[in-house]
Amino acid sequence: MVSKPAPIPTEHMPQPAMLIYSDTAGWRHEEGIAGGNVALMEIAGDKGLGYFTTQHSEIFNAETLSRFDLIVFNSATGDSLSADQKAAFEAWLADDGAVILIHGSIDASQSDWSFYQDEMVGPHFISHPMAPQFQAADIVVLNTGHPVMAGLPDRFSATDEWYSFDGVPDDRFVTLAGLDETTYDPRNTVYGVEDLRMGDQPEDHAIIWARCLPDGGRVVASALGHTIESFKATEHRQLLSNAIDWTRRAGEDAVGCE
Ligand SMILES: [Zn+2]
Repeated sequence: MVSKPAPIPTEHMPQPAMLIYSDTAGWRHEEGIAGGNVALMEIAGDKGLGYFTTQHSEIFNAETLSRFDLIVFNSATGDSLSADQKAAFEAWLADDGAVILIHGSIDASQSDWSFYQDEMVGPHFISHPMAPQFQAADIVVLNTGHPVMAGLPDRFSATDEWYSFDGVPDDRFVTLAGLDETTYDPRNTVYGVEDLRMGDQPEDHAIIWARCLPDGGRVVASALGHTIESFKATEHRQLLSNAIDWTRRAGEDAVGCE
């Protein structure tokens, strides 16, 4: 296989900068990738951050990654990185790196990469409702003091494709928000597993969580973000803005990792 040249961000890219990656060796969310990229670039612009979007995994090399302090996997799916590229990413993350995982990026299609699935994602995706695929549901904030939840209502409605997982994140993670399953129909009546209920309480159905890795990296995982419209919601944009700040340690350094 002929390898492609690595993308090279312009030397004029403001610093610090955010890399937005959305290659899809698995399911491709055209809309969510487009909507998420626009929202992330707008938020980065508001913060004075540089940004670069790509779908080329060749960007995962030590030299290029050193120009970024945050990487967003925006519905990146499947096993798209080579072993060398994974190693470059893991070394970058271990040096106080910051990561945000959006929607398809936690759909378990990267399970071949054990570090990614086990250390950054946690629970395994099972399925999502169909017919209707997109539903309004209540998100309940479960950690109101966490910086990633700052400014969000304790409970708010969002419309999205709602993921269910094989369990809640273990205690290496901080669960930030969960779904109130009484506010939508958590079934897939079209294919696969039909009953996608995870429990009566929002604590039983985590939908946004975070982790402070032992060697310093920070990760926020959010199941939101299938559609363009989902990225226009005020609460979603606040969440992304907060996640950008917290993973980058732009606020108070230790808060959220104790
Ligand atoms: Zn989706």
